[in-house]
Amino acid sequence: MANTRTVTVINGDGIGPEVSAATIRVLEALKVPLEFEFKDAGAEVVAKFGTNLPHETVEAVLKSGVALKGPTGTVVGGGLPSANVGLRKRLDLYSSLRPVKSVPNVKTRYENVDLVVVRENTEDLYAGLEHIVVPGVVEALKIITEKASTRIARFAFDYARKNGRKRVSAIHKANIMKLSDGLFLDCCRKVGREFPEITYDEVIVDNLCMQLVKDPTRFDVMVTENLYGDIVSDLCAGLVGGLGMVPGANIGERTAVFEAVHGTAPDIAGKGIANPTALMMSAVMMLEWLELKDEARRMQGAIQKVYGGDAKVRTGDLGGSATTREFTDAIIAAL
Ligand code: NAD
Repeated sequence: MANTRTVTVINGDGIGPEVSAATIRVLEALKVPLEFEFKDAGAEVVAKFGTNLPHETVEAVLKSGVALKGPTGTVVGGGLPSANVGLRKRLDLYSSLRPVKSVPNVKTRYENVDLVVVRENTEDLYAGLEHIVVPGVVEALKIITEKASTRIARFAFDYARKNGRKRVSAIHKANIMKLSDGLFLDCCRKVGREFPEITYDEVIVDNLCMQLVKDPTRFDVMVTENLYGDIVSDLCAGLVGGLGMVPGANIGERTAVFEAVHGTAPDIAGKGIANPTALMMSAVMMLEWLELKDEARRMQGAIQKVYGGDAKVRTGDLGGSATTREFTDAIIAAL
C-alpha cells in the first residue's frame, strides 16, 4: 500500500506479548495504514542474542522512527543493564510523556484527574554510573546537565502551550541537592520565561507526593528528572486505577517509542488476564504522533465506550472478570 508507514513492534517479556497482541488486533481492526515489523528485546531473548537489546532492534527503530513496545524485565541487583534505559539512551529518547487521566466508570478515590508527567529520560541516577569505592561503600553518580534539563523543560512548556495547559510545575529536591537539582531548576526557570502565558512553580518532590494523594486536581503538567519522574508517574497511575490504565511515550528529535508505564507483571503473565488498556492508550498516542488523527479518535472513543458500558467488561485489576481477549473483543466491537 502506498504511504504505509512501518512501526517496529517489540513485544517484550511477561505480559508484554499478551498486551501487545491485543493492541495490534485493535490497530488491524481499525485498518490503520501501518505495517508492523516485530523485533526482539528483553530478558527472554538474552539466551538467543547474548544481549537484552539486540543491535538489529535498535537499527530497526532508528530506521522506522517509531516503535510500539511491551514491557521488558530487568534483574534486580546484578545482571544486564536495563534494555529500556539502553533503548532510550541509544535513540536519544530524551522525554518521557505520561498523561494520567481519569477514565469514566473506573471507580477510584478521585474523579477528574488530568495530569501530565514529563520526565527527563537520559540522565540522573539512571546514568547507571556506580562503583565500589572500598568494600562496603558504593558510589552512584547523579548526572544533571544544563543541556538535558533545558531540553526537557522546553519539551514540557511546548507541550503545555500546544495542549492548552495552564501550569507547569518543576519537581525537585534542590533543598538537599543544591547543585544538581539547583541546575535543573535554573534551566526550568529560564525556559519558563519564554512562556509568559503559562504559570510556573516549583514543588519539592516529597511534598508533591503528599499533595497528589490529598488532591491531584491541584496539578497540571509536572516536569522532572528521571528518578523522581519514575516514582511520581507510578503514584499518578494509582490515582486513576493503576498501572494497567496509564499510557506513555518516549520521544526524541526524530524517533518515538510508545509503551505503557507498567512492567512485565510476572505475577499474572501467561494467564491471559492482563489489562491491555495502557498499551492501547499508548497506541492512541502513537496514532496522534503519526498524524493519524481520525484513527486515534476512533480508538480512543472505543476505549471510552467500553469503559462507559457493561461493568463486567473489565479485567481483574479493575475488579472485573474479563480476560484480555474478551476485553479486546469488546473494544473491536465498539470501534
Ligand atoms: P509491574 O508494573 O510489572 O507490576 C506491578 C503490579 O501491577 C503487579 O501486581 C502487576 O500484576 C500489576 N500490573 C501491571 N501491569 C498490569 C496490567 N497491564 N494489567 C493488570 N495488572 C497489571 O511492576 P514490577 O513488578 O515492579 O516490575 C516487574 C518487571 O517489569 C521488572 O523486571 C521491571 O524492571 C520491569 N519494568 C519494565 C518496565 C518497562 O519495560 N517499561 C516498566 C516498569 C517495570
